[in-house]
Amino acid sequence: MTERDSVDAVIVGAGFSGLYQLYRLRELGLTTRVFEAGDGVGGTWYWNRYPGARCDIQSLSYSYSFSPELEQEWDWTEKYPTQPEVLRYLNHVAERFDLLPHITFSTRVVSAHWDDNARCWAVSTDSGESVTAQFVIMATGALSAPKLPEIPGIERFRGRTHHTARWGKDEVRFDGLRVAVIGTGSSGIQTIPLIAEQAADLTVFQRTANFSTPAGNRPLGPAEVAEMKSSYPAWRAAQRTSFSGVPAELPTQLALSVPEAEREATYEAGWAKGEIVSLVSCFADILFDPAANETAAEFARAKIRAVVDDPDVAEMLSPRSHPIGTKRPCLDTGYYETFNRPNVHLVDLRETPIVEFTNAGLRTTDAEYDFEAIVFATGFDAMTGALNAIDIRGRDDLALADEWHAGPRTYLGIAVAGFPNLFTITGPLSPSVLSNMVVSIEQHVEWVAECIAFMRAHGYSAIEPTAEAEAQWVQHVAELGALTLFPTADSWYTGANVPGKARVFLPYFGGVGTYRQTCDDVAAGGYQGFTLTPAGQPAPA
Ligand SMILES: Cc1cc2nc3c(=O)[nH]c(=O)nc-3n(C[C@H](O)[C@H](O)[C@H](O)COP(=O)(O)OP(=O)(O)OC[C@H]3O[C@@H](n4cnc5c(N)ncnc54)[C@H](O)[C@@H]3O)c2cc1C
Repeated sequence: MTERDSVDAVIVGAGFSGLYQLYRLRELGLTTRVFEAGDGVGGTWYWNRYPGARCDIQSLSYSYSFSPELEQEWDWTEKYPTQPEVLRYLNHVAERFDLLPHITFSTRVVSAHWDDNARCWAVSTDSGESVTAQFVIMATGALSAPKLPEIPGIERFRGRTHHTARWGKDEVRFDGLRVAVIGTGSSGIQTIPLIAEQAADLTVFQRTANFSTPAGNRPLGPAEVAEMKSSYPAWRAAQRTSFSGVPAELPTQLALSVPEAEREATYEAGWAKGEIVSLVSCFADILFDPAANETAAEFARAKIRAVVDDPDVAEMLSPRSHPIGTKRPCLDTGYYETFNRPNVHLVDLRETPIVEFTNAGLRTTDAEYDFEAIVFATGFDAMTGALNAIDIRGRDDLALADEWHAGPRTYLGIAVAGFPNLFTITGPLSPSVLSNMVVSIEQHVEWVAECIAFMRAHGYSAIEPTAEAEAQWVQHVAELGALTLFPTADSWYTGANVPGKARVFLPYFGGVGTYRQTCDDVAAGGYQGFTLTPAGQPAPA
């Protein structure tokens, strides 16, 4: 067998996770192949090229910390960088660390089957290539499997269609067109103001009104960047032990324990910060107590009423179906103001659902609409979608998708019982989407690299969580989630946006710092909760 056919590790995906995992495994001396469905690096920042696509964690925090040289040489230009800027950064990383030669682009991994006798994975791609590898690291992304709305007849529509997460590389203009945007989650909220500026007429179809805070985006001054660069080591250390991956003092006061005027002033100060956690981080009980939550929600609704001229439109835009913070919070630049434009209309799909697409547009229960372009801002099959799309089979031909039928089961969100030597970066039941994901990605990647180094140093050929450790972790994550208001919302955090998907609160809510400590303790204890198989011995039954 040639080295090309057999490697130490296969990494699936070349976004923030895959690039850094490759870097770390190469440092360990492992032969590694990366397969990436796109024709370039970047993952999220490669695919999501829609107008307005932007990061909503501040650039100086949403970046790698593993290389002090990289930190010093890269200059972020805005508080919240645009998609092209983050993509430039990731291309720079790939080139600077000479990662590209190890990556096979435009190639999708379709299956990964564990061979218990050979103690390795057989990985197959849609280009017909097969590779065997001792380790497989799924860096497939928590938000990388886009979904369309479940409405019949999409193929009938004769105009242009675009999905925000599959935007082409060529510039897309909407000048003079009648355009529909379906979906008002984070991507919809980012793109609607820009499409409205171009389109002759824009109709926004909203199923769920979402809470959004003005981003207050601005260019970064040289002094601010220099100041951050000089304090990176301390900042990064604080990120790693923080709750969300962004250093911040956690609130201790309860919303209803302070006088109303003080509460409002606290919300005003939070609002002015322009962060996704602007309001939910004002008081300690917002995500736990419905009455406390309602004070923050009503503050946000009042802000919408203050901006939107038409009171009926303002009410339609005011979220009432879920507690604030329990769906992915959004940041915007001029979102609510957009609905004051004469060329922008809002349709409430809870009142008048879409029945079908037509040749010329779509039909709701109330009216027929003609469009030249339809934009789907309909999100993702989050956290499990990209993993379940691959035919992953572990010991005894166990299929991961079957194992996860009633919801994902993982140990620490990073490994699965029955699937030796398989790791999932920011997998389900880890902090993942509830955190600054670059911090969580670095932590997972480093943990995996250290685990592999440990195995090599001690002569182990396979590692796999025990069913007991996995069951305890699944229960722990569910119990933590149940303390919060998150499970009450129909959101992609709970799988509710995908018909038939098990309703499980998918991320771990214990905080980035606590989670890191748990993972470190597991490793320091000789990989507690895992079974390690010495090379040459049969795998555990
Ligand atoms: C529009 C948008 C904005 C976001 N903003 C933020 C933010 O502000 N802050 C934050 O913390 N997070 C944000 N996120 C989350 C973001 O996904 C992560 O921060 C991070 O980019 C994830 O990196 P990743 O490498 O883990 O996954 P991804 O970037 O999703 O990369 C996964 C890669 O795997 C590839 N892949 C998947 N399956 C296969 C397969 N079978 N074969 C081959 N290749 C495959 C995909 O093509 C993709 O390129 C945002 C997400 C979106 C969609």
